[in-house]
Amino acid sequence: MSNKPNIIFTALKLRCPNCGKGKLFVNPNAYNYKTMALMNDQCDHCGSSFSNREPGFYWGSMYVSYAISTSLIVFNLIWLFLIFGWNMWALIVPNVVMMIVMAPLNFRLSRAWWLGLNMRYFNKGQ
Ligand SMILES: [Zn+2]
Repeated sequence: MSNKPNIIFTALKLRCPNCGKGKLFVNPNAYNYKTMALMNDQCDHCGSSFSNREPGFYWGSMYVSYAISTSLIVFNLIWLFLIFGWNMWALIVPNVVMMIVMAPLNFRLSRAWWLGLNMRYFNKGQ
């Protein structure tokens, strides 16, 4: 059994997938749009690299972002449908607002999850 931290929880905390302690992002505030995407080059605790990967590495996090967004929308549609029935505006507007408000959080979470999946299962040496 591995003593590595759970990649789901380390991604939710935006921590290093290897040790679970180092911070992935420079600024902890996801809603500061100037520094939203700035990541540390490496973990300040274990030294794992966050930036020294193949070009376009984080483009793959779009798949994770899509999965997160779709899951949240389907969850919302189910409970909104149960409350409001087939009211189109009650089904669409809350989801659009939620996706806009949560975009920075989704961006960071998808990057953290993508990095964790790759560090854990594909290129362990980096
Ligand atoms: Zn680390």
